[in-house]
Amino acid sequence: MIHKKDKMPNDVVDSAIDNVSNKILYHYAKNEADIEVLKSVMEKYPVKFTSYLLKLFENSEAIRKQFLPSCLENKTSETPTPFEEGIDASETYGLERLYRDRVLITPNFDCPAYCRFCYKKSNVMHNKNAMTYEEIDTVIKKVGAMDEVSGALVTGGEPFLDIDKLFYLLDKLATLDNISVIRIGTRTLLTMPQIFNDELCTRLASFNKISSSNPYKSKHLAINVHFNHPDELAPEVLEACNKLTSKGILLRNQAVLLKGINNDLKTMQHLFNLLIQNNITPYYMNHCMPVEGSDHFRTSLQKGVDIYKYLCTESSTAIPHYVYAPSTGKMHVGPDSKFEYIFKDDIRYIKIKTLYKASEFKEITKKSLPPMHNETKDGYIEGLYIDGDDL
Ligand code: SF4
Repeated sequence: MIHKKDKMPNDVVDSAIDNVSNKILYHYAKNEADIEVLKSVMEKYPVKFTSYLLKLFENSEAIRKQFLPSCLENKTSETPTPFEEGIDASETYGLERLYRDRVLITPNFDCPAYCRFCYKKSNVMHNKNAMTYEEIDTVIKKVGAMDEVSGALVTGGEPFLDIDKLFYLLDKLATLDNISVIRIGTRTLLTMPQIFNDELCTRLASFNKISSSNPYKSKHLAINVHFNHPDELAPEVLEACNKLTSKGILLRNQAVLLKGINNDLKTMQHLFNLLIQNNITPYYMNHCMPVEGSDHFRTSLQKGVDIYKYLCTESSTAIPHYVYAPSTGKMHVGPDSKFEYIFKDDIRYIKIKTLYKASEFKEITKKSLPPMHNETKDGYIEGLYIDGDDL
Protein backbone atom coordinates (compact mmCIF):
# COMPACT_ATOMS: atom_id res chain seq x y z
CA MET A 1 0.00 0.00 0.00
CA ILE A 2 1.11 3.53 -0.69
CA HIS A 3 0.47 5.66 2.38
CA LYS A 4 -1.83 8.68 2.21
CA LYS A 5 0.98 11.02 3.20
CA ASP A 6 2.85 9.82 0.13
CA LYS A 7 -0.17 10.29 -2.07
CA MET A 8 -0.56 13.94 -1.20
CA PRO A 9 2.82 15.61 -1.50
CA ASN A 10 1.01 18.94 -1.77
CA ASP A 11 1.23 19.27 2.01
CA VAL A 12 5.00 19.32 1.58
CA VAL A 13 4.66 22.00 -1.06
CA ASP A 14 2.31 24.18 0.96
CA SER A 15 4.45 24.10 4.06
CA ALA A 16 7.40 25.36 2.03
CA ILE A 17 5.43 28.27 0.64
CA ASP A 18 3.74 29.14 3.94
CA ASN A 19 6.97 29.26 5.85
CA VAL A 20 9.07 30.92 3.24
CA SER A 21 10.45 34.29 4.21
CA ASN A 22 10.42 37.31 1.93
CA LYS A 23 14.19 37.08 2.05
CA ILE A 24 13.96 33.88 0.03
CA LEU A 25 11.11 34.95 -2.23
CA TYR A 26 12.75 38.29 -3.05
CA HIS A 27 16.24 36.85 -3.15
CA TYR A 28 16.93 38.46 -6.53
CA ALA A 29 15.55 41.91 -5.59
CA LYS A 30 18.22 44.57 -5.16
CA ASN A 31 15.84 47.33 -4.02
CA GLU A 32 12.18 48.25 -3.40
CA ALA A 33 11.56 48.77 -7.13
CA ASP A 34 12.73 45.22 -7.81
CA ILE A 35 10.33 43.91 -5.16
CA GLU A 36 7.45 45.59 -7.00
CA VAL A 37 8.61 44.02 -10.27
CA LEU A 38 8.85 40.60 -8.62
CA LYS A 39 5.31 40.96 -7.27
CA SER A 40 4.01 41.52 -10.80
CA VAL A 41 6.10 38.60 -12.11
CA MET A 42 4.55 36.34 -9.47
CA GLU A 43 1.03 37.52 -10.38
CA LYS A 44 1.62 36.26 -13.89
CA TYR A 45 3.83 33.28 -13.12
CA PRO A 46 3.24 31.99 -9.59
CA VAL A 47 6.08 30.61 -7.50
CA LYS A 48 5.98 27.17 -6.01
CA PHE A 49 8.60 24.87 -4.57
CA THR A 50 8.89 22.10 -2.02
CA SER A 51 10.40 22.12 1.45
CA TYR A 52 13.17 19.86 0.16
CA LEU A 53 14.11 22.42 -2.50
CA LEU A 54 14.08 25.11 0.17
CA LYS A 55 16.82 23.14 1.90
CA LEU A 56 18.84 22.87 -1.32
CA PHE A 57 18.52 26.62 -1.94
CA GLU A 58 20.79 27.25 1.05
CA ASN A 59 23.88 26.02 -0.75
CA SER A 60 23.24 26.32 -4.45
CA GLU A 61 22.81 29.39 -6.62
CA ALA A 62 22.25 27.06 -9.61
CA ILE A 63 19.19 25.55 -7.89
CA ARG A 64 17.86 28.87 -6.56
CA LYS A 65 17.97 30.37 -10.05
CA GLN A 66 15.77 27.56 -11.38
CA PHE A 67 12.94 28.10 -8.88
CA LEU A 68 13.07 31.63 -7.44
CA PRO A 69 11.49 34.45 -9.44
CA SER A 70 13.64 36.97 -11.25
CA CYS A 71 12.84 40.50 -12.44
CA LEU A 72 14.13 39.35 -15.84
CA GLU A 73 10.95 37.29 -16.29
CA ASN A 74 9.13 40.55 -16.93
CA LYS A 75 11.14 41.06 -20.11
CA THR A 76 9.95 38.77 -22.84
CA SER A 77 10.05 38.78 -26.61
CA GLU A 78 6.40 37.66 -26.46
CA THR A 79 7.29 34.16 -27.43
CA PRO A 80 4.35 31.79 -27.74
CA THR A 81 3.62 28.94 -25.37
CA PRO A 82 5.07 25.84 -27.02
CA PHE A 83 2.65 23.21 -28.28
CA GLU A 84 -0.30 25.49 -27.45
CA GLU A 85 -0.82 23.02 -24.65
CA GLY A 86 -3.55 23.91 -22.20
CA ILE A 87 -5.75 25.38 -24.88
CA ASP A 88 -6.59 22.72 -27.43
CA ALA A 89 -3.81 20.18 -27.19
CA SER A 90 -5.97 17.22 -28.08
CA GLU A 91 -9.53 16.14 -28.68
CA THR A 92 -9.13 13.60 -25.84
CA TYR A 93 -8.34 15.22 -22.50
CA GLY A 94 -4.88 14.29 -21.24
CA LEU A 95 -3.82 12.50 -24.45
CA GLU A 96 -1.54 13.92 -27.12
CA ARG A 97 -0.04 12.27 -30.16
CA LEU A 98 2.70 14.07 -32.03
CA TYR A 99 4.58 11.04 -33.37
CA ARG A 100 3.50 7.89 -35.16
CA ASP A 101 4.85 5.40 -32.61
CA ARG A 102 4.20 6.98 -29.21
CA VAL A 103 1.71 9.01 -27.21
CA LEU A 104 1.91 11.46 -24.35
CA ILE A 105 -0.44 11.06 -21.39
CA THR A 106 -0.73 13.79 -18.74
CA PRO A 107 -2.57 12.59 -15.63
CA ASN A 108 -1.64 15.81 -13.77
CA PHE A 109 -0.95 19.17 -15.31
CA ASP A 110 0.30 20.75 -12.11
CA CYS A 111 3.75 20.42 -10.54
CA PRO A 112 4.97 20.54 -6.93
CA ALA A 113 7.49 23.17 -8.01
CA TYR A 114 7.52 25.56 -10.94
CA CYS A 115 10.80 25.69 -12.85
CA ARG A 116 11.13 29.27 -14.01
CA PHE A 117 12.16 28.25 -17.55
CA CYS A 118 9.18 25.94 -18.08
CA TYR A 119 5.79 26.78 -19.54
CA LYS A 120 4.11 24.93 -16.66
CA LYS A 121 4.63 28.03 -14.52
CA SER A 122 2.02 29.86 -16.59
CA ASN A 123 -1.52 30.17 -15.25
CA VAL A 124 -2.83 28.44 -18.38
CA MET A 125 -1.08 25.24 -17.43
CA HIS A 126 -1.28 24.71 -13.73
CA ASN A 127 -4.96 25.67 -13.51
CA LYS A 128 -5.91 22.70 -15.66
CA ASN A 129 -7.73 19.89 -13.88
CA ALA A 130 -6.06 16.55 -13.34
CA MET A 131 -7.49 13.72 -15.43
CA THR A 132 -10.39 11.89 -13.80
CA TYR A 133 -10.43 8.09 -13.61
CA GLU A 134 -13.11 8.11 -16.34
CA GLU A 135 -10.88 10.23 -18.57
CA ILE A 136 -8.04 7.77 -18.03
CA ASP A 137 -10.37 4.95 -19.10
CA THR A 138 -11.21 6.88 -22.28
CA VAL A 139 -7.52 7.46 -23.04
CA ILE A 140 -6.73 3.77 -22.53
CA LYS A 141 -9.46 2.78 -24.95
CA LYS A 142 -8.12 5.20 -27.57
CA VAL A 143 -4.46 4.20 -27.14
CA GLY A 144 -5.37 0.49 -27.28
CA ALA A 145 -6.89 1.11 -30.71
CA MET A 146 -3.77 2.84 -32.07
CA ASP A 147 -2.01 -0.11 -33.71
CA GLU A 148 1.12 1.78 -34.67
CA VAL A 149 1.68 3.12 -31.15
CA SER A 150 3.99 1.02 -28.99
CA GLY A 151 5.20 3.58 -26.45
CA ALA A 152 3.48 5.74 -23.85
CA LEU A 153 5.17 8.66 -22.11
CA VAL A 154 3.39 9.48 -18.86
CA THR A 155 4.31 13.03 -18.11
CA GLY A 156 3.09 16.30 -16.68
CA GLY A 157 3.05 18.39 -14.85
CA GLU A 158 3.98 15.81 -12.35
CA PRO A 159 2.65 12.23 -12.61
CA PHE A 160 3.68 11.48 -8.98
CA LEU A 161 1.35 14.18 -7.59
CA ASP A 162 -1.33 11.47 -7.27
CA ILE A 163 0.29 8.09 -6.87
CA ASP A 164 -2.96 6.08 -6.76
CA LYS A 165 -4.01 7.63 -10.06
CA LEU A 166 -0.59 7.04 -11.58
CA PHE A 167 -0.75 3.33 -10.79
CA TYR A 168 -4.32 3.12 -12.04
CA LEU A 169 -3.02 4.45 -15.36
CA LEU A 170 0.09 2.22 -15.40
CA ASP A 171 -1.96 -0.89 -14.58
CA LYS A 172 -4.28 -0.15 -17.49
CA LEU A 173 -1.42 0.62 -19.90
CA ALA A 174 0.26 -2.64 -18.98
CA THR A 175 -2.80 -4.57 -20.16
CA LEU A 176 -2.62 -3.11 -23.68
CA ASP A 177 -1.05 -5.53 -26.17
CA ASN A 178 0.33 -2.76 -28.37
CA ILE A 179 2.14 -0.91 -25.54
CA SER A 180 5.57 -2.40 -24.86
CA VAL A 181 7.45 0.63 -23.53
CA ILE A 182 6.23 2.95 -20.78
CA ARG A 183 8.23 5.99 -19.72
CA ILE A 184 7.47 8.31 -16.84
CA GLY A 185 8.77 11.86 -17.09
CA THR A 186 9.32 13.39 -13.65
CA ARG A 187 11.34 15.91 -11.67
CA THR A 188 10.26 14.52 -8.28
CA LEU A 189 13.64 12.84 -7.79
CA LEU A 190 14.85 16.40 -7.20
CA THR A 191 11.74 18.09 -5.79
CA MET A 192 10.44 15.35 -3.46
CA PRO A 193 12.99 12.51 -3.23
CA GLN A 194 11.47 11.37 0.09
CA ILE A 195 8.44 9.85 -1.66
CA PHE A 196 10.59 7.13 -3.24
CA ASN A 197 10.28 4.51 -0.54
CA ASP A 198 10.98 0.80 -1.13
CA GLU A 199 7.33 0.04 -1.64
CA LEU A 200 6.89 2.64 -4.38
CA CYS A 201 10.09 1.58 -6.17
CA THR A 202 9.19 -2.12 -6.02
CA ARG A 203 5.77 -1.37 -7.43
CA LEU A 204 7.26 0.63 -10.29
CA ALA A 205 9.79 -2.12 -11.01
CA SER A 206 6.98 -4.66 -11.34
CA PHE A 207 6.14 -3.12 -14.73
CA ASN A 208 9.44 -4.37 -16.14
CA LYS A 209 8.61 -7.78 -17.53
CA ILE A 210 11.26 -9.35 -19.72
CA SER A 211 10.16 -12.46 -21.57
CA SER A 212 13.28 -14.49 -22.34
CA SER A 213 11.33 -17.01 -24.37
CA ASN A 214 9.73 -14.36 -26.57
CA PRO A 215 11.36 -10.91 -26.71
CA TYR A 216 8.31 -9.52 -28.54
CA LYS A 217 6.29 -10.05 -25.37
CA SER A 218 8.65 -8.10 -23.09
CA LYS A 219 7.42 -4.91 -21.41
CA HIS A 220 9.68 -2.14 -20.19
CA LEU A 221 9.25 0.80 -17.83
CA ALA A 222 11.87 3.54 -17.55
CA ILE A 223 11.95 6.92 -15.83
CA ASN A 224 13.06 10.13 -17.49
CA VAL A 225 14.59 12.28 -14.77
CA HIS A 226 15.59 15.93 -15.00
CA PHE A 227 18.84 17.22 -13.52
CA ASN A 228 20.49 20.36 -14.88
CA HIS A 229 23.42 20.93 -12.54
CA PRO A 230 25.77 18.77 -10.45
CA ASP A 231 24.50 20.52 -7.26
CA GLU A 232 21.18 18.74 -7.77
CA LEU A 233 22.73 15.35 -7.13
CA ALA A 234 22.38 15.76 -3.35
CA PRO A 235 22.58 12.72 -1.02
CA GLU A 236 18.78 12.30 -0.62
CA VAL A 237 18.33 12.64 -4.38
CA LEU A 238 20.93 10.02 -5.19
CA GLU A 239 19.54 7.74 -2.51
CA ALA A 240 16.12 7.89 -4.20
CA CYS A 241 17.70 7.33 -7.65
CA ASN A 242 19.64 4.38 -6.31
CA LYS A 243 16.48 2.79 -4.86
CA LEU A 244 15.03 2.83 -8.37
CA THR A 245 18.11 1.72 -10.32
CA SER A 246 18.89 -1.05 -7.84
CA LYS A 247 15.48 -2.50 -8.66
CA GLY A 248 16.31 -2.51 -12.35
CA ILE A 249 14.60 0.73 -13.38
CA LEU A 250 16.50 2.62 -16.03
CA LEU A 251 16.89 6.35 -15.31
CA ARG A 252 17.57 8.63 -18.26
CA ASN A 253 18.35 12.28 -17.73
CA GLN A 254 16.87 15.13 -19.74
CA ALA A 255 18.90 18.25 -18.99
CA VAL A 256 17.96 21.72 -20.21
CA LEU A 257 20.68 24.09 -21.38
CA LEU A 258 20.24 27.18 -19.18
CA LYS A 259 22.10 30.46 -19.36
CA GLY A 260 23.86 31.27 -16.10
CA ILE A 261 23.33 27.74 -14.78
CA ASN A 262 24.98 25.17 -17.01
CA ASN A 263 25.89 26.92 -20.28
CA ASP A 264 29.55 26.05 -20.03
CA LEU A 265 31.50 22.98 -20.97
CA LYS A 266 32.90 22.32 -17.52
CA THR A 267 29.50 22.21 -15.79
CA MET A 268 27.97 20.01 -18.48
CA GLN A 269 30.94 17.60 -18.50
CA HIS A 270 30.80 17.43 -14.73
CA LEU A 271 27.04 16.78 -14.75
CA PHE A 272 27.10 14.07 -17.41
CA ASN A 273 30.06 12.24 -15.88
CA LEU A 274 28.47 12.33 -12.42
CA LEU A 275 25.24 10.95 -13.86
CA ILE A 276 27.04 8.03 -15.51
CA GLN A 277 28.99 7.36 -12.33
CA ASN A 278 25.68 7.16 -10.46
CA ASN A 279 23.91 4.82 -12.85
CA ILE A 280 21.86 7.48 -14.67
CA THR A 281 22.11 7.75 -18.44
CA PRO A 282 22.64 11.22 -19.96
CA TYR A 283 19.86 11.14 -22.53
CA TYR A 284 19.02 14.62 -23.75
CA MET A 285 20.55 18.05 -23.60
CA ASN A 286 17.52 20.15 -24.53
CA HIS A 287 17.77 23.65 -25.87
CA CYS A 288 15.56 25.81 -23.61
CA MET A 289 12.11 26.22 -25.17
CA PRO A 290 10.88 29.66 -26.24
CA VAL A 291 8.58 30.11 -23.27
CA GLU A 292 7.20 33.49 -22.24
CA GLY A 293 9.33 35.06 -19.52
CA SER A 294 12.31 32.78 -20.06
CA ASP A 295 14.43 34.88 -22.46
CA HIS A 296 17.14 35.27 -19.81
CA PHE A 297 17.60 31.48 -19.63
CA ARG A 298 17.82 30.90 -23.37
CA THR A 299 21.25 30.63 -24.98
CA SER A 300 21.69 30.57 -28.72
CA LEU A 301 21.30 27.15 -30.30
CA GLN A 302 24.90 27.60 -31.49
CA LYS A 303 26.12 27.91 -27.88
CA GLY A 304 24.86 24.37 -27.30
CA VAL A 305 26.76 23.21 -30.40
CA ASP A 306 29.96 24.80 -29.06
CA ILE A 307 29.57 22.77 -25.87
CA TYR A 308 28.36 19.67 -27.65
CA LYS A 309 31.27 19.37 -30.07
CA TYR A 310 33.69 19.13 -27.14
CA LEU A 311 31.45 16.59 -25.40
CA CYS A 312 31.62 14.50 -28.57
CA THR A 313 35.38 14.13 -28.17
CA GLU A 314 34.78 12.26 -24.90
CA SER A 315 33.53 8.78 -24.08
CA SER A 316 30.25 8.32 -25.90
CA THR A 317 28.60 6.97 -22.75
CA ALA A 318 28.52 10.55 -21.43
CA ILE A 319 27.10 12.18 -24.58
CA PRO A 320 23.37 12.88 -24.64
CA HIS A 321 21.40 13.82 -27.74
CA TYR A 322 21.35 17.57 -28.25
CA VAL A 323 17.83 18.54 -29.31
CA TYR A 324 15.48 21.46 -29.66
CA ALA A 325 11.73 21.28 -29.89
CA PRO A 326 9.74 23.31 -32.40
CA SER A 327 5.98 22.73 -32.04
CA THR A 328 5.98 20.13 -34.81
CA GLY A 329 8.44 17.68 -33.22
CA LYS A 330 11.90 17.23 -31.84
CA MET A 331 14.97 18.14 -33.93
CA HIS A 332 18.45 16.71 -33.36
CA VAL A 333 21.59 18.84 -33.53
CA GLY A 334 25.04 17.43 -34.33
CA PRO A 335 28.52 18.71 -33.42
CA ASP A 336 28.90 20.20 -36.92
CA SER A 337 25.35 21.51 -37.43
CA LYS A 338 25.03 24.84 -39.25
CA PHE A 339 21.98 27.09 -38.97
CA GLU A 340 20.19 29.43 -41.33
CA TYR A 341 19.07 32.63 -39.61
CA ILE A 342 16.18 34.99 -40.36
CA PHE A 343 15.57 38.30 -38.56
CA LYS A 344 12.05 39.65 -38.04
CA ASP A 345 11.05 42.47 -35.67
CA ASP A 346 14.39 42.27 -33.87
CA ILE A 347 13.92 38.56 -33.16
CA ARG A 348 16.39 36.03 -34.53
CA TYR A 349 14.81 32.88 -35.91
CA ILE A 350 16.38 29.66 -37.11
CA LYS A 351 14.89 28.38 -40.33
CA ILE A 352 14.31 24.65 -40.16
CA LYS A 353 13.22 21.92 -42.45
CA THR A 354 11.88 19.29 -40.08
CA LEU A 355 12.05 15.51 -40.37
CA TYR A 356 8.28 15.30 -40.42
CA LYS A 357 5.83 15.13 -43.31
CA ALA A 358 3.05 17.73 -43.13
CA SER A 359 0.38 15.20 -44.14
CA GLU A 360 1.49 12.79 -41.43
CA PHE A 361 1.53 15.56 -38.81
CA LYS A 362 -2.03 16.56 -39.68
CA GLU A 363 -3.25 12.97 -39.73
CA ILE A 364 -1.64 12.02 -36.40
CA THR A 365 -2.30 15.18 -34.39
CA LYS A 366 -5.64 16.02 -36.02
CA LYS A 367 -4.42 19.62 -36.08
CA SER A 368 -3.33 22.05 -38.74
CA LEU A 369 0.27 23.25 -38.89
CA PRO A 370 1.13 25.66 -36.05
CA PRO A 371 1.94 29.35 -36.62
CA MET A 372 5.28 30.02 -38.39
CA HIS A 373 5.21 26.59 -40.10
CA ASN A 374 4.30 25.57 -43.63
CA GLU A 375 4.62 22.69 -46.07
CA THR A 376 7.56 22.40 -48.48
CA LYS A 377 7.18 21.33 -52.12
CA ASP A 378 8.31 17.82 -51.18
CA GLY A 379 5.74 17.58 -48.39
CA TYR A 380 7.86 18.21 -45.30
CA ILE A 381 7.22 20.77 -42.58
CA GLU A 382 9.44 23.82 -42.51
CA GLY A 383 9.25 26.55 -39.95
CA LEU A 384 10.90 29.12 -37.77
CA TYR A 385 12.32 28.49 -34.31
CA ILE A 386 13.05 31.45 -32.02
CA ASP A 387 16.73 31.45 -31.12
CA GLY A 388 18.13 32.63 -27.79
CA ASP A 389 21.19 34.82 -27.28
CA ASP A 390 24.46 34.70 -25.34
CA LEU A 391 24.53 38.27 -24.03
S1 SF4 B 1 10.32 21.27 -15.87
FE1 SF4 B 1 9.02 19.59 -15.12
S2 SF4 B 1 8.86 19.90 -12.89
FE2 SF4 B 1 9.59 21.81 -13.78
S3 SF4 B 1 7.74 23.01 -14.08
FE3 SF4 B 1 8.18 21.95 -16.01
S4 SF4 B 1 6.98 20.06 -15.94
FE4 SF4 B 1 7.08 20.90 -13.84
